[in-house]
Amino acid sequence: MRRLLGTLVTLLLLGTLVAATPTAHASRMPSKRTWQAQNAKIMRGSVTWLRERVESRHPTEKLAINLDIDNTSLASYYAPGKPVRPTLRLARVADSLGVKVLFNTARPEKGKRKAVRELRRAGFPVYGICARAKGLSVVEGKQDCRARFRKRGYTLVVNVGNRPTDFEGGGFEKRYKLRSYGGRLS
Ligand SMILES: [Mg+2]
Repeated sequence: MRRLLGTLVTLLLLGTLVAATPTAHASRMPSKRTWQAQNAKIMRGSVTWLRERVESRHPTEKLAINLDIDNTSLASYYAPGKPVRPTLRLARVADSLGVKVLFNTARPEKGKRKAVRELRRAGFPVYGICARAKGLSVVEGKQDCRARFRKRGYTLVVNVGNRPTDFEGGGFEKRYKLRSYGGRLS
């Protein structure tokens, strides 16, 4: 009887462990609320900075902001299809000030039209989108897209992204880096 009880307890404990495993993994990811609060904090001041930059612009300058898409503009992990609010706010202010809103994504080129639909549905003004050309790494693709924007005459005044690869190589004035949680957010 005692042995049977012992076995039962062991089985119960094992069952608890097995059941806990997936949630234990998920719980290592910060909550959506934490992520949103962190985004708001990181983006604080971005609208003011943009307004001031626009006020001091040279009349010949064509200003634009460069936005990463996944987990920067669209909440791809925490709320698929929904916008990242502080980024959307910045994009709308940019639009109202005549600053073009350009998207720079490591998604492959064949996904561009779908991305534009998703962005518009989430409320973003979309003036341009550049996706990663075949054969380029993520960093190279991001740099290539910024170079293409600049070649079209744009000064990239703000770059918003959530991974280090969104910023490598420069070519913009001000950066706002949201979280990737050690690369777990694309
Ligand atoms: Mg991203």
